[in-house]
Amino acid sequence: VKPAREEMFRQVERSLKDDIRPTLGDELKISAFRHMMASLVLTLGRGVGSTFYRAGFDIGVYKAEKHGLKGVDEALDYAVEVFEKTKLGLLNVEEVSEEEVVLTMKESVTADGYDVGEKLCYFQAGFIAGLLQGATGQRWQVKERACVAEGNEECVFVGRVWHDENTWKGGC
Ligand SMILES: [Zn+2]
Repeated sequence: VKPAREEMFRQVERSLKDDIRPTLGDELKISAFRHMMASLVLTLGRGVGSTFYRAGFDIGVYKAEKHGLKGVDEALDYAVEVFEKTKLGLLNVEEVSEEEVVLTMKESVTADGYDVGEKLCYFQAGFIAGLLQGATGQRWQVKERACVAEGNEECVFVGRVWHDENTWKGGC
């Protein structure tokens, strides 16, 4: 994680005191979040998905290092826990090996309720990739194979260790 990013993450963490916002508390309505996201999409235009992926990836690497996560299982356990705690979505680990993982997600904060014919969960995909990379020291890439916003029943993420000779094959 680059020093400027790390410092920004630390600032975020320092801002999150136990008594944050005594009246309104720690939570935010999805309507506010989605309007902010929609504005970012309009402003950033095409390629916004990779920006959200990158944002998730950086925070994933940072959290993996901060919590000393080691290995694929610890990365995925943490992902499930933090996604539920922060309400990003309800993750479920479907398949795990040292080189490939498959996860599903229900109730995505970015996709649930949308029917727009495209994938919307780039931040979460990047977050999972960053956790895996930070916890294993290997290069991971996570792709969302199917999304609720495309009409799928749940979002599906496939993560793979990235070797230089790798190409994505088979429907991703
Ligand atoms: Zn999705």
